[in-house]
Amino acid sequence: MFENTLSFARETDEKDPLAQWRSAFHHPVVDGQPLLYFTGNSLGLQPLTARKAVDHELNRWAKLGVEGHFSPEDPWYTCHKKLAGPMARIVGARESEVVCMNSLTANLHFLFVSFYRPTGERFKIISEAGMFPSDRYLLETQVQFHGFDPAEAIVEVGPREGEHVVREEDLLAAIEDCGEQLALLFLGGINYYTGQLFNIRPLTEAAHRVGAIAGFDLAHAAGNVPLSLHDDNVDFAAWCTYKYLNAGPGNLGGIFVHERHGTSFDGPRFAGWWGYDESKRFLMQPGFQPIPGAEGWQLSNPPVVEVAMLSASLAMFDEVGLAALREKSVRLTGYLLYVLQEEFGRRPELGLRSITPEDPAQRGCQLSVQLGGTDRAFFDRLRAEGVSADFREPDVVRFAPTPFYNRFEDIWLLGAILRRLLEEQQ
Ligand SMILES: *Cc1c(COP(=O)(O)O)cnc(C)c1O
Repeated sequence: MFENTLSFARETDEKDPLAQWRSAFHHPVVDGQPLLYFTGNSLGLQPLTARKAVDHELNRWAKLGVEGHFSPEDPWYTCHKKLAGPMARIVGARESEVVCMNSLTANLHFLFVSFYRPTGERFKIISEAGMFPSDRYLLETQVQFHGFDPAEAIVEVGPREGEHVVREEDLLAAIEDCGEQLALLFLGGINYYTGQLFNIRPLTEAAHRVGAIAGFDLAHAAGNVPLSLHDDNVDFAAWCTYKYLNAGPGNLGGIFVHERHGTSFDGPRFAGWWGYDESKRFLMQPGFQPIPGAEGWQLSNPPVVEVAMLSASLAMFDEVGLAALREKSVRLTGYLLYVLQEEFGRRPELGLRSITPEDPAQRGCQLSVQLGGTDRAFFDRLRAEGVSADFREPDVVRFAPTPFYNRFEDIWLLGAILRRLLEEQQ
């Protein structure tokens, strides 16, 4: 099905129905050389339309001043609302279930205020071992805030001895084991380190069976794989938009609150005026009355320039459709796996290998390569050759070819560089 040749890569690119999208992005050039960019999982490239969208808002600010908030055309006052439709399509939600606000870690803390409400009997959180550090700190400090000991309250489920990814059966067993002590199942949709995609629906069901809440950090899943948060009955989720969603460094996060909570939530929340019933917001009265749905969790008025960049990017997702992106992604990452296996196979004694599940249903576009008998210096040499990948302690390099702007040729080129470096490797 695949061939590790330049002609095969080029022919595949020529037949790729999404090939023209590559030129809709700026491609970084270092020392006169375009980078082989495999770091869309860290920071997505800039769409050409971003600058125009930003200029448009800067011009309006210059011309309109405060009048921009309520100008008849595209008022800033409601500018975040235009994100809800496209964002809901990305995560498989109803429009009223999503809102874009703040940033990821902050949003998770706010969602935990509402959805992690431990009692003396039910206080445990199950997560996957090796979570992104920010999520780990979130869990530790939330648990401590409620007066519990992280060592007792946080149950981490890791890979079995000699394995690299977590077995779903082990997560299900841990949920059963915790039973009535389980307050919250909290997982990355895709683990940032191994690239493992969790099966959201059965895990959510299992959490619900023991009376717990199911929440997900979708930083590495949103815009990477199709999601169906509403139908999967997920309670809450949050994600960032600067990775696969190409919205620019540090741009707004997204949250999901299932409508069964959103419409009639009487639990705690930390509120701000932007979550307040819009018809009465400017009466400036005490007594918080939330907007029904996810918007009721908003705190502050949205940053207009960030919204403009995010909106420009989401418009591209709507135009292409996540299904078409995923179809190419499965093939592109399949090709990467094939090329890596062939190149690493030339020096088996070094033990370089992908630790990401090979089954496309259990991963997104990222492959995580364990450096085996090589070390960090090997990664530094890759960098010097113009390959943008990233190194994560202790010994993994992550490659994330994205269907929007990576070519099959990029992967062949990476293979050729790896071959040369591996020949030189002692
Ligand atoms: C990228 C990432 C973050 C980053 O959090 P910010 O609050 O946006 O800085 C957090 N968690 C995970 C799993 C991530 O992948």
